[in-house]
Amino acid sequence: MTDILIRRTGHAGRITLNRPDALNAMTWDMCRAIADAMQSWRDDPEIRLVVIDAAGDRAFCAGGDIAELYQTGRAGDFAYGQAFWADEYRLNAAIFAWPKPVVSFLQGFVMGGGVGIGCHGTHRIAGDTTAIAMPECGIGLIPDVGATLMLALADGRLGEYLGVTGTRMSAADAVHAGFADHYIPEDLWPELIRQLEQTGDVSVIEASAKPLPASALAAGADDIDRHFAGESLTDILNSLRSEDSAFARDTLRTMERNSPLSMAVTVELLHRLRGPSISIGRALDLEYRFTARSMEHGDFLEGIRAAIIDKDRQPKWQYAGQSVPVSEISKMLRPLGAAALKLEETRVTQPTVGFIGLGNMGAPMAANLAAAGYAVTGFDTAGTTADGVKVAGSAQEAVTGADVIITMLPDGAVLRSVAATVLPHARPGALFVDCSTVDVESARAVAAEASAASVLFVDAPVSGGIGGATGGTLTFMTGGSDDAFEKARPLFDVMGQKAVHCGAAGAGQAAKICNNMILGATMIATCEAFALADKLGLDRQKMFDVVSTSSGYSWSMNAYCPAPGVGPQSPSDNDYTPGFAAELMLKDLGLSQQAAAAVDADTPMGAAALELYRQFVEDEGGRGRDFSAMLPRFAARSRES
Ligand code: NAD
Repeated sequence: MTDILIRRTGHAGRITLNRPDALNAMTWDMCRAIADAMQSWRDDPEIRLVVIDAAGDRAFCAGGDIAELYQTGRAGDFAYGQAFWADEYRLNAAIFAWPKPVVSFLQGFVMGGGVGIGCHGTHRIAGDTTAIAMPECGIGLIPDVGATLMLALADGRLGEYLGVTGTRMSAADAVHAGFADHYIPEDLWPELIRQLEQTGDVSVIEASAKPLPASALAAGADDIDRHFAGESLTDILNSLRSEDSAFARDTLRTMERNSPLSMAVTVELLHRLRGPSISIGRALDLEYRFTARSMEHGDFLEGIRAAIIDKDRQPKWQYAGQSVPVSEISKMLRPLGAAALKLEETRVTQPTVGFIGLGNMGAPMAANLAAAGYAVTGFDTAGTTADGVKVAGSAQEAVTGADVIITMLPDGAVLRSVAATVLPHARPGALFVDCSTVDVESARAVAAEASAASVLFVDAPVSGGIGGATGGTLTFMTGGSDDAFEKARPLFDVMGQKAVHCGAAGAGQAAKICNNMILGATMIATCEAFALADKLGLDRQKMFDVVSTSSGYSWSMNAYCPAPGVGPQSPSDNDYTPGFAAELMLKDLGLSQQAAAAVDADTPMGAAALELYRQFVEDEGGRGRDFSAMLPRFAARSRES
């Protein structure tokens, strides 16, 4: 093939991308040829390293060859693109994990697929013409080829900024952001490559490296971190729009060209990826969830049409920037089950799961595990079931022989009784994960019983509600031993986006109770402030615009605004249908006060919030309404009532 030159020179496996007229854009054939060559050199003792470079001075590789993807996608054939991306991502992972040095020389444009080939090796060399970028949001895709790994690991909120804007990085920027390692003037490259081939020794690179010029990205870190710190694309846009500065204006202008769905998913993906379970495999897995769906459900085909086919540069994106529904973001990132990306390494057989409590939360959580390939057997006294889950006749039957037991039950008393029933039937060495919200004492008591039965226990209550359970975006707050947490981590990755190990058994419940005490109090404060604003004649939208970017900012205001028609979609827009029901908030506030009494903690705000939710649920018809329905309650009242 002439599009790519593959040969052995001295001690080096040599790969040269050779389509300079097409800016060395990667084709499927080039991808396969690189994969085959690297595989054949892997265990060859004569090959001590691989050197990848590219012909021409305009680009190392400006992306993937997307014309074929567009044609097949337009014809309704999504399998072609999925197979291409899967092969490409496997190659990216193979380069990342290759056991010997991989040296790349990155002149000119290095974008998309070029980053996947050039930026996962051990020695990534940039020069004066280097311009590295992940501009995929501009064509309705997201940063992929494993680039989200570097983005998630970059300092502060630089990853979000680079991911949604596609800003080009100079050599110094690329080193700052983790996409390159060395700056070496390009006229020195031919001699350096010759030495690498001759010696097979990468220490010659250090000897040629020059001090880095200044990085514009490093200089702009304060602006980037300030504006890109929010939870969502909406927060980022709100922050940029609230400031009249050159940075805010330029950044907004760039973002306004890009697909809002792609940008919103990019932000969410990076947030999910950050944290202890970050890896190239997880990055590619999450990216592939999006790309595999991008033609059918994303903006990808429209993005290519506008940029490359019709070249009108007027893409009609599905959503506007502020209004990408959280449910659509979750949908694009849901696990793909049997169709998930499979990397080369052998997959360990998935454990079997006995799942007790298939209610509003448990059913979608169990379904997500089943969709991800776990063999799930479920039981619920109400006879409920879930997609892909085999139903057992009893809790004992569901857990017998299971590697993992998961419970999602109403309260501590039910948890204790279910634990007493199932633990005698649990396999020694099994893992018991309780995701219910219960009192700390019950969590600790069940942990002790599990330990006596040689079962590892984790208390792992969740936040994120039914939407999070369905979308696989829950946050788990966990307590238990390090071993138990590590064993449970892959399950958390499927059912959620984040798992925090808070300490020993009971620590997860303690964190949940404290979090929800804050949530109850801030929701009440937000609702009463809106009711006051109404009576002061202040427009609710204006109130949101100010508070959501000022010091009154909170999750209750920004992500779950209790005023209908204001802020992102929330239960208030659906006549306060839960969401998170007021009686569940009452339960959690009750747990917080029970815990506070047990340890003699003074929690007057929590106590006041408990009393208000008690009145609302028990005396004022609040049961079955979302907990944000405190707003119409306050709005209808006077000081005396
Ligand atoms: P739910 O009432 O819908 O589900 C609980 C399920 O447990 C029911 O289907 C019930 O039939 C089943 N069950 C009760 N006793 C059982 C037994 N002995 N054996 C087997 N099954 C039994 O409640 P949910 O909304 O799914 O909440 C579950 C837990 O998650 C609760 O602890 C809740 O506080 C917590 N939580 C809920 C939300 C939410 O938004 N719904 C959010 C975070 C946490």
